[in-house]
Amino acid sequence: MASQEQVRDFLAHWFQLGKPIVLAENRGEHLPSPIYHQGTYSQSFEDCWHNVMVTSGQGCYLKGTTQSVADMLSPAWVVTSCARCDMPLAIPELGIAKSPCPCDDLSSWPNYDVPVPRTAVDSDRRLSDIQRRVNIASGFDSVPSRGPYEAEETRVFSAWRARS
Ligand SMILES: [Zn+2]
Repeated sequence: MASQEQVRDFLAHWFQLGKPIVLAENRGEHLPSPIYHQGTYSQSFEDCWHNVMVTSGQGCYLKGTTQSVADMLSPAWVVTSCARCDMPLAIPELGIAKSPCPCDDLSSWPNYDVPVPRTAVDSDRRLSDIQRRVNIASGFDSVPSRGPYEAEETRVFSAWRARS
């Protein structure tokens, strides 16, 4: 059984490759943008998830797949990763998947030249990595991310240590 978090992560990964979710009751396709905001799911994503949960996920499915979100949340399904592309993949817990990975109809996927879809948590870490690298490149690395106050206190403390 996939947890709601797993299903949300599953959708977020495929949204990043441009695969929309088809909503129940002919409410059309939905592709949130942006998907993440400040290290967590964006309002656009939450709105989309809300639209999915209106029917408890019944009749809502990622385009190109046959299992509904409700199926994925049922005990008969698990989320694993695709052997071909490493993306999250929903399969029946018992038996063989009837439909292939959603990557099956993406001729340009897997593509290792583009950034691999990521989770919200990773995006934050990646951002701070980038910021750190930018800081090193611009020679700001010697200025740590503390305020002037703390820097001042540190100086006073070292002066005091030197005296005693
Ligand atoms: Zn795949």
